[in-house]
Amino acid sequence: MNLYRKMGNGKGFGLALYKRWITGLQSRSLHALVICEPSHSSKEFNLSQASRSAITAARHIVKTDSVSILTFNAQEISSFKGIPIKDKTYGNLSNLFIASNPLLENYEAERLTSVCLGLHNKHKFTHIISAASTFGKNLLPRVAACLDTCQVSDIVKVISSSSFVRPIYAGNALATLEAVNPDALQVITVRATSFEPAESSEQVQSIDDLIKTEAVEKVEQVELDVSLLEETAKMSCVEGIERAESGRPDLGSAKVVVSGGRGLKNKENFDQIIVPLADKLNAAVGATRAAVDSGYCANDMQVGQTGKVVAPQLYIGVGLSGAIQHLSGMKDSKVIVAINKDPEAPIFQVADYGLAADLFEAVPELTSKLP
Ligand SMILES: Cc1cc2nc3c(=O)[nH]c(=O)nc-3n(C[C@H](O)[C@H](O)[C@H](O)COP(=O)(O)OP(=O)(O)OC[C@H]3O[C@@H](n4cnc5c(N)ncnc54)[C@H](O)[C@@H]3O)c2cc1C
Repeated sequence: MNLYRKMGNGKGFGLALYKRWITGLQSRSLHALVICEPSHSSKEFNLSQASRSAITAARHIVKTDSVSILTFNAQEISSFKGIPIKDKTYGNLSNLFIASNPLLENYEAERLTSVCLGLHNKHKFTHIISAASTFGKNLLPRVAACLDTCQVSDIVKVISSSSFVRPIYAGNALATLEAVNPDALQVITVRATSFEPAESSEQVQSIDDLIKTEAVEKVEQVELDVSLLEETAKMSCVEGIERAESGRPDLGSAKVVVSGGRGLKNKENFDQIIVPLADKLNAAVGATRAAVDSGYCANDMQVGQTGKVVAPQLYIGVGLSGAIQHLSGMKDSKVIVAINKDPEAPIFQVADYGLAADLFEAVPELTSKLP
């Protein structure tokens, strides 16, 4: 099992809990596998922005072109978008592994785990990486447990191939971790907002394009152990999926986010005050846990420690106090605007622009003045 120890991070935020007594040098060549989130509709595959950020982190870790990616498909895909193009520093991706089987249609983590383990057994990756999204948080701990290693969660910085920085205490401190055994497999989730998404191109739309542009070295269909998949499928299965259709930008990658809190008082107010402002700004809609728990909106809109982490260009927080657990999910936003009737609300301490006003008057007025 690989263990990690906490180090000082050199900026004064880290917790130097242990002295560094082993400095290991990586003695084998590195090969990272990035497990990419499925984000596709029927015949069109589109790699998520979070996965492209995980690819950037992987490139920083291995510092070579030895980064491969794994995607899952239930069927033949005709259009393949969003796969990163050749990088100026780190070159192209090594392998694009595609695991295709109807049993993978609903992406049950138990089934995907068996695919990842099979692939790792064959290729012996040094790092297995995914975005710290709902998908990655569900899948990677299972992979780490089966491979008897510790997972490093939610990294925000790469120090070396075996040392990473991650937030702790709801983002109030940063811990630098160093693998006790740098040669052992490292399983890592990546905070997507901390790494620029690897560049992709609109011109690259198919597997042929990927090969032609040398974006990937090789495309390989993963040989699946179908009997194992069938066995795993007996243990758990998805009974049905309800998709919340929305024409809005994805909350995790939107440039503008408008979030509402308990101050809105009920769902009707949330819909009538937050949504029109978000519409005018082409923004994603977020919420505090208090708003979600009170039923003002769906729980996939929750921003914060136990929700989504966002870092948009503009974050507008309406009728929310700025609890530490909420701040940990949005404090890296470039510009923060707060609207709260209590001038002492903690959100004003992190806000770039604050409006101490009643949201029921201020927000409709603001919305009406926007083009
Ligand atoms: C383990 C744990 C994990 C958590 N994870 C999360 C998380 O991921 N995300 C999250 O958000 N929270 C999380 N929480 C909850 C968090 O601690 C707070 O309870 C929550 O964020 C508060 O939500 P709020 O700001 O909407 O409500 P409140 O704190 O009640 O704030 C409401 C604000 O609205 C203002 N207001 C009221 N009326 C008006 C008005 N008319 N006009 C203008 N302003 C008005 C008030 O002045 C007040 O500041 C977590 C808590 C725990 C313990």
